[in-house]
Amino acid sequence: MTTNNEAFDRARAVIPGGVSSPVRAFGSVGGTPVFVSRAEGSRVWDVAGREYLDLVGSWGPAILGHAHPQVVAAVRHAAGRGLSFGAPTVAEAELAELVRERVPLAEKVRFVSTGTEACMTAIRLARGATGRDLIVKFAGCYHGHSDALLAAAGSGLATAGLPGSAGVPAAATAQTLVVPYNDPDAIREVFAARGAEIAAVITEPAAANMGVVAPAPGFNALLRELTSAHGALLIYDEVLTGFRVSAAGWWGLEQGAITPDLFTFGKVIGGGMPLAALGGRPELLDLLAPLGPVYQAGTLSGNPLATAAGIATLKLADAEVYARVDAVASALSTAVDDALTQAGVPHVISRAGSLFSIFWGVDAPVTNYAQAQTQDAGAYRRFFHAMLDAGVALPPSAYEAWFCSAAHSDADLDQLIAALPAAARAAAG
Ligand code: PMP
Repeated sequence: MTTNNEAFDRARAVIPGGVSSPVRAFGSVGGTPVFVSRAEGSRVWDVAGREYLDLVGSWGPAILGHAHPQVVAAVRHAAGRGLSFGAPTVAEAELAELVRERVPLAEKVRFVSTGTEACMTAIRLARGATGRDLIVKFAGCYHGHSDALLAAAGSGLATAGLPGSAGVPAAATAQTLVVPYNDPDAIREVFAARGAEIAAVITEPAAANMGVVAPAPGFNALLRELTSAHGALLIYDEVLTGFRVSAAGWWGLEQGAITPDLFTFGKVIGGGMPLAALGGRPELLDLLAPLGPVYQAGTLSGNPLATAAGIATLKLADAEVYARVDAVASALSTAVDDALTQAGVPHVISRAGSLFSIFWGVDAPVTNYAQAQTQDAGAYRRFFHAMLDAGVALPPSAYEAWFCSAAHSDADLDQLIAALPAAARAAAG
């Protein structure tokens, strides 16, 4: 047994910031990170044995809750047969079939290990397919940490208030045009000026890395219209929303009304193991090596343990699971809204399907990154620590969604709701 402080000191001595991914370091909320020793269902335990009700959910994958027995059994079974082969497996075809059943536009699927790789590859594929170089992304959207996409990116950069990253050559982002989210005029202007040079628009079809920002009605349809009219591809980055907001992700919530050319998936698709994917129609996906000229590869791509976790997770994530996640998100977001209103804390609850986050100290709906950045991170810091003291682990950033799962029980909701009034008073300052 040790303490979080001791663990943090030990980790910081050998790992930059003590973490393998920046937001975990509690930089924006302050204090000592929770060093997790195990997780089960809706709970995590720290190194000192303290239990927390968890709403980080591994930042998205844990839609069934942590360590679902059938997922763990599938991984154990796979592990017993070998950890990695560097050869194709039937399980990969099975997982690709499961993806295609849910999202038929993902007729072919290539597996990678992270959402970063999936988006990086989707961009390369779009450039290879169109013979064009320009990429359009939206300010505050996050598509992983590849050079070309680290321009006005959300997630950890939003949390730290960074415009971009050192070490990214200007040339790497020179071909990336950044446009405000939910701004029809801005995207129309970009296409009017440079439409013939644009390979693709990559978007989070519902944004969740600048806080949660739903697409304005008609915005995603406009992206489809403009890309089609100008011979560019539309990439739906569903790394976060995919298999989470519905069985078929955000695309499913839109009832398939928009037809992106490419999808990227991550998080839920790997059930907590390192697995991600890109999908689309065969003419595009078959441009990837070995069939086509667009190169992509990975020693651990389609890893058998990760593939087993993904198959088990998708098989378990049925209509009942999605209904439960929706119900938990509704109950929780309403309770937070009530508690903050009662305590007189100015805020906006921002929802997209079962994803929600809170914008602190703002009084109007947030529709883009510039508005998101006006929020009062100090209020969240106080709220976050009051909740942590009450045994609730929230995402350590005001720019992240609260991740609900099917393992959150009514008793969990009661515990959460009971902790809210004191935390709301703390947020009020
Ligand atoms: N795209 C989106 C929409 C994401 O939310 C994330 C991660 N939060 C990524 C891409 C990158 O995925 P990964 O962290 O697995 O590289």
